[in-house]
Amino acid sequence: MNDDTPIVVAGAGPAGLIAAEILSAAGKRVVVYERMPSVARKFLMAGRGGLNLTHSEPFDRFLTRYGGAAERLRPMLEAFTPSDLTAWANGLGQETFVGSSGRVFPKAMKASPLLRAWLARLEAQGVEIRTRTTLRGWDDVQPTATLLALGGSSWPRLGSDGSWHDALAAQGVEVTPFQPTNVGFNVAWSEHFRMRFAGQPLKTIALRIGEQEVRGEAMVTRYGIEGGAIYALSTELRDRLPCTITIDLRPDLSHEDIAAKLARTKAGDTLSSTLRKILGLAPIAIGLLHENGSPPREPSALAALIKAAPVTLTSAQGLERAISTAGGVSWDAVDENLQLRAVPGTYVAGEMLDWEAPTGGYLLQACFATGAWAARAILRR
Ligand SMILES: Cc1cc2nc3c(=O)[nH]c(=O)nc-3n(C[C@H](O)[C@H](O)[C@H](O)COP(=O)(O)OP(=O)(O)OC[C@H]3O[C@@H](n4cnc5c(N)ncnc54)[C@H](O)[C@@H]3O)c2cc1C
Repeated sequence: MNDDTPIVVAGAGPAGLIAAEILSAAGKRVVVYERMPSVARKFLMAGRGGLNLTHSEPFDRFLTRYGGAAERLRPMLEAFTPSDLTAWANGLGQETFVGSSGRVFPKAMKASPLLRAWLARLEAQGVEIRTRTTLRGWDDVQPTATLLALGGSSWPRLGSDGSWHDALAAQGVEVTPFQPTNVGFNVAWSEHFRMRFAGQPLKTIALRIGEQEVRGEAMVTRYGIEGGAIYALSTELRDRLPCTITIDLRPDLSHEDIAAKLARTKAGDTLSSTLRKILGLAPIAIGLLHENGSPPREPSALAALIKAAPVTLTSAQGLERAISTAGGVSWDAVDENLQLRAVPGTYVAGEMLDWEAPTGGYLLQACFATGAWAARAILRR
């Protein structure tokens, strides 16, 4: 049986909707406010990339992905684990699979069928969703409990623009500035390289900065470079800007192996055909070797360049193109239930909280886990 006074959940992204599901399943009356004409726009956008729901790696390793926020998130991720999230998606009729990198996706590789089934469940449980309804201020906050799940401030056109930041600060809530994460970086490519290779991936590379190395893939774009390997280092890179990364174009071969192979080339072969035939380098990789002038022909020097082609990142793309944001409601501003210390009865979940993680399903997992955690805390009130 529903209680009379509704619990307001502000923000119909994954954090808000999972909270609404848990609260309504426990018989609470729930009203969801969503400022946009439709719900979960960022979740649907995530679906365009296949909807990487979570990751299958061992939990201890999984947890390290949250850096400094890992210990704060630990109980929430233990209470709503990657397996729980997968089972939840399966329960909504969405079969999942584990990709070669360990990432978990729905077989449909998109968010819309999952969202449709989810909204039908919420409706069946009596959740009222009010779209085009903006939580404006504290007059909207319910005395029973209110959950804020208003998102970070990346891709603001999808609804979460971080406009809550100053409003919460005015209430005495400690908030840290937003910073773009999982974001591309600007590179002053030569016009020739940009025209020829923008939109193409650099595959099976290793990116290095300082002591850090990430293997994977990066995408050359008109403005610079983006993609999984770049995102995995984006916090480090952002803090060092402007900075020069090196790209190892054959991370599986040592410098000596490459130099030995190059020494065996036939006289008369062009550099491009040598690099293609002997080392299997793609045209984009060969193009990259020409970005700092003509590559050396001496085998050892050329091998050194192949193992560490320098790329200078001048600045980061802005929040409007970032996959996620760091910053937001500081961990000191909430208690162990994710309740705002300065505004008792008001809880916070999802990307509003000050944590960050690379792509790989870690973002959605933490949004679901914090949403579920806050909902269960509200039920215990
Ligand atoms: C292009 C892209 C691809 C991504 N791909 C992945 C992926 O594959 N895997 C992954 O783990 N993560 C991915 N993410 C990140 C993931 O989508 C987000 O971390 C997640 O959606 C955040 O959930 P949330 O519920 O905290 O906030 P959001 O999803 O941002 O939802 C917040 C909601 O609150 C609403 N709102 C804001 N202010 C108000 C207000 N005052 N009143 C009422 N409503 C308000 C917004 O309109 C929005 O609908 C991707 C993000 C982008 C941009």
